[in-house]
Amino acid sequence: MGRIVYVNGRYVPLEHAMVSVEDRGYQFADGVYEVCEVRAGRLIDERRHLARLVRSLDELRVAHLMSLAALGIILREVVRRNRVHDGLVYVQVTRGVARRDHPFPPAGTKPALVVTARPIDLAANERVAAEGVAVITLPDERWARVDIKSISLLPNVLAKQAAREQGAREAWLVDRDGKITEGSSSNAWIVDRDGKLITRSLDHAILAGITRAVLFNVIRAHGLSLEERAFTVEEAHQAREAFVTSATQAVMPVVRIDDHVIGNGAPGLIASALRRDYHDHAEAT
Ligand code: PMP
Repeated sequence: MGRIVYVNGRYVPLEHAMVSVEDRGYQFADGVYEVCEVRAGRLIDERRHLARLVRSLDELRVAHLMSLAALGIILREVVRRNRVHDGLVYVQVTRGVARRDHPFPPAGTKPALVVTARPIDLAANERVAAEGVAVITLPDERWARVDIKSISLLPNVLAKQAAREQGAREAWLVDRDGKITEGSSSNAWIVDRDGKLITRSLDHAILAGITRAVLFNVIRAHGLSLEERAFTVEEAHQAREAFVTSATQAVMPVVRIDDHVIGNGAPGLIASALRRDYHDHAEAT
């Protein structure tokens, strides 16, 4: 079965789906996106993901194209038409199509909307999680507003590629103070020697991960202690456990950071428990 995507009001086969060369997403990366997990055919944490999409749009002053209820219907329709049982749905909104000029296009230019969906191999993900992943650290070279989920991802792409070339799954980005901001496509967490969870507090230097937010509830339910603060590369190297969070990986244990083996080199107990229980706390709709 061929893939079907939604493009500006139509459901079309992927090979016929087209956007204009004057789409401002293509010209300027002038747009935002969201990725939502699909599990057993249902959207995970849709409400929170769409709320973050609205926030990103508002921060960039992109007009609202439709209600969130209408958008939710399109997401479900793309999932359904692609028969995605477990996977992800991707939403991209750009400032629309206009002659290439840096300032905003004329008032009334309609934002452009693309929605795609594809399956994820859950069993393969579980195998990766059972082993744990390696991460490397790299300077954070992104702009100063990465709390906005913009499609401008070149530094993230380069960081992820560097990680892959060094046999790692993710790159943890390091700010000028030697503190980790987040991963190239995930939030970063450590567990210290006392069993306390640490993740950076929210500011303009990280994306407010939805998985991160939901995990706070899982942590509370487990009676674990949590500190929201930036941590150094050195603290990460010495951590008892580490993991990353994102919509498509939930909680993914980290077992190596640069040349440092974390814990005993296997996924930690806390990370594993949080991964196991994550979906009990997420909203499926
Ligand atoms: N930070 C970055 C830079 C990301 O790209 C992502 C993935 N969207 C995250 C954090 C995690 O966010 P979420 O849990 O909402 O997927």
